Amino acid sequence: MLNQSYEALTICTLRRALVLILLSKADTVVKDEERKIKTVNRSFDFPVVIRLKKFIHIPYKQVVLSRKNVLKRDSFKCGYCGRSDIPLTIDHIVPKAKGGKDTWDNLVTACTKCNNKKGDRTPQEAELKLLIKPTVPNHIFFIKNSVNKIDLRWKPYLFIDN
Ligand SMILES: [Zn+2]
Repeated sequence: MLNQSYEALTICTLRRALVLILLSKADTVVKDEERKIKTVNRSFDFPVVIRLKKFIHIPYKQVVLSRKNVLKRDSFKCGYCGRSDIPLTIDHIVPKAKGGKDTWDNLVTACTKCNNKKGDRTPQEAELKLLIKPTVPNHIFFIKNSVNKIDLRWKPYLFIDN
């Protein structure tokens, strides 16, 4: 479900999507070309992406800063080398010893190899380059994590590429 601004809001059930469309509160943005919803005397498009007609303000839940959520945010890949086949840990980009904080933008997933190489140094000092820009996850994080498989047709609205 997209907001009027096309921003992804949540995943809703088909039933809810149909109710919103029938009440003229939402429009279908992407429909399933191969399926139709049939009633006794009517046939409706099968909605895949819907958009609310009125903009709604939603205070988004904050994602709890935890080891598990940092790993999830980084798709269980080392932020320095991209590997996911060796044990992963959480790295303080600016080391704690140098005043680095426990914040979303200072924590990144790192493989044990890169983490050992880096030690108590900054990435520059250790000549390591971050492949990703660690940021605070937004509500799209919840959407990505609330379903096992993202419908390919949702991707353009979720700004994800994996
Ligand atoms: Zn690594």
